[in-house]
Amino acid sequence: MGEPNARSEARPSPEPPLRRWRGVLEEYRSFLPVSEATPTVSLQEGATPLLPARRLSERVGAEVWLKIEGANPTGSFKDRGMTVAISKAAEAGTEIVVCASTGNTSASAAAYAAQAGMRCVVLIPEGHIALGKLAQALVHGATVVQIQGNFDTALAIVRDLPGRAPVTIVNSINPDRIAGQMTGAFEIVDVLGDAPEIHCLPVGNAGNITAYWRGYCEYKAAGLATRLPRMFGFQAAGAAPIVEGRRVEEPETIATAIRIGNPASWYGATAASSESGGRIEAVTDEEILEAYLWLAREESVYCEAASAASVAGLLKFGVPGGSSVVCVLTGNGMKDPDLAVGQVSVPASVPAETKSVLDAIGA
Ligand SMILES: *Cc1c(COP(=O)(O)O)cnc(C)c1O
Repeated sequence: MGEPNARSEARPSPEPPLRRWRGVLEEYRSFLPVSEATPTVSLQEGATPLLPARRLSERVGAEVWLKIEGANPTGSFKDRGMTVAISKAAEAGTEIVVCASTGNTSASAAAYAAQAGMRCVVLIPEGHIALGKLAQALVHGATVVQIQGNFDTALAIVRDLPGRAPVTIVNSINPDRIAGQMTGAFEIVDVLGDAPEIHCLPVGNAGNITAYWRGYCEYKAAGLATRLPRMFGFQAAGAAPIVEGRRVEEPETIATAIRIGNPASWYGATAASSESGGRIEAVTDEEILEAYLWLAREESVYCEAASAASVAGLLKFGVPGGSSVVCVLTGNGMKDPDLAVGQVSVPASVPAETKSVLDAIGA
């Protein structure tokens, strides 16, 4: 930092315009399971935008904000939990972390493991993860094993590993992940001044809905919020075990991040829904894609298909008029270019001359 000059001394407020954000572990330390002995492994995750959604608010007759989790360092909310899980693993002297992943957990684990100097092993369902996520895990140096099975099978194998090899699991069955993910709720309350009335988010393995609910409850218990939101969780119709009340053996959806048939935090999700007076519902792939494109075109947010499930659910099931609503957009649309390109028409090429360009744009 430079010496203050005469001009900055004359400024009325001593607050610099941009305070250095230290990442969720340092910012919310007193709410997290860390101590002086815990090293901080962070990529300065968190502090993501809470965007007022003007057109969406008009469309649903409520006051809607979008929590843009794709703005995290590796492009999804998984970083909030990963900073805590990897920091705790570092404290315990772990050398290898392992996870099963529909993609974003592996990208996040690979990045934070690299930061901590650990080895990272990820199991992914063959053919069912977005290309951008696979690329991330590989570029960050993870050992990636493709499983000829789905996410649920991959997670079952991961659960089997610690007894046989010196590894720490960093899936959301690791409570440190859930603890870190509570910080999403803290940030929302810190920005709005209180909890929203309704909180919408996609549900896959159900760690995030569990974490948000716990986060809101902890903040209220600490006197930092006066109310709790109703939790609205949305599953993809082809992968909706909680809605159907039974495991789905062959989950199917274009929203690969929530293509899960046997959620590890099933109980956490139903508890969040019932304790909050909320609901867990299903949205079809068509409804998800409609919301995905609409968000990009009307709210300028390019999110993942799975993320758009939160808005698809809001549009489908509605909320009481005038409610304050936060929809979490869990990941960045750039992770899955194949899906995006499949939804739009790829432009034709024209001769490299002004007239052809004018013809092509109809001007
Ligand atoms: C992991 C993930 C989800 C699902 O979160 P759960 O905690 O598994 O319910 C949703 N969207 C994106 C983009 C994800 O990466």
